[in-house]
Amino acid sequence: MKYKHLFFDWDHTLWDFEKNSEMSLRALYENLELRSLGMPSFELFFKQYIIINDLKWDLYRQGKITKQGLRESRFQETFAHFSIEANDVAWTLETRYIDETPYQNHLIDGARNVLEMLKARGYKMHIITNGFHESQNIKFAESGLEPLFDVLLCSDQVGVNKPDAKIFRRALQLAGADRKESLMIGDNLIADCVGAREQGIDQVFFNPKGTKHLEKVTYEIERLEELLEILKPL
Ligand SMILES: [Mg+2]
Repeated sequence: MKYKHLFFDWDHTLWDFEKNSEMSLRALYENLELRSLGMPSFELFFKQYIIINDLKWDLYRQGKITKQGLRESRFQETFAHFSIEANDVAWTLETRYIDETPYQNHLIDGARNVLEMLKARGYKMHIITNGFHESQNIKFAESGLEPLFDVLLCSDQVGVNKPDAKIFRRALQLAGADRKESLMIGDNLIADCVGAREQGIDQVFFNPKGTKHLEKVTYEIERLEELLEILKPL
């Protein structure tokens, strides 16, 4: 068999980022009593937050606002949409959201089962994630998946994010893996797949929504279970 080392992305590939964000905000909506401030319902609050957060992330990626600017404004502006002025509560919400969300542990459908099967089939498995190790380490531990992995590499430990070559090279080195026997699996076409491809590592694009694209990838899947077809027992 061609592959021995499987490098997985974490957020949106194994860890259900959307669901966990929603669960965390739902708990904070109750806990901070946002309804009493005039927020009509959790559903409307969450829907508006998603719109504003996406806009802020676009601005951040374009270099038009800083990460701090994003953090200071996203809940404040969500509140403003409902004519609520409570900057102190908005900031408490922001800090608690960042601190508490890593403790949520909803996984992408099939993640646990597929990883356990692949482990049993003899594959070495690792994580390469764009994120801060402080919060990512909590997520790894809370997920219960941590024992399945050998190398858990966060971008802040290397100083660059995927798709930078340096993070892939560092991960291969730590795992003692040859690029030709390695496979990168992730939901981000550029960061995970193009990044790995440029390092001569084969890729699986996890594309659950079936988003159209023009990049050449080694494999493309909509469900994690499809990995079990690609990766036979060693
Ligand atoms: Mg991801």
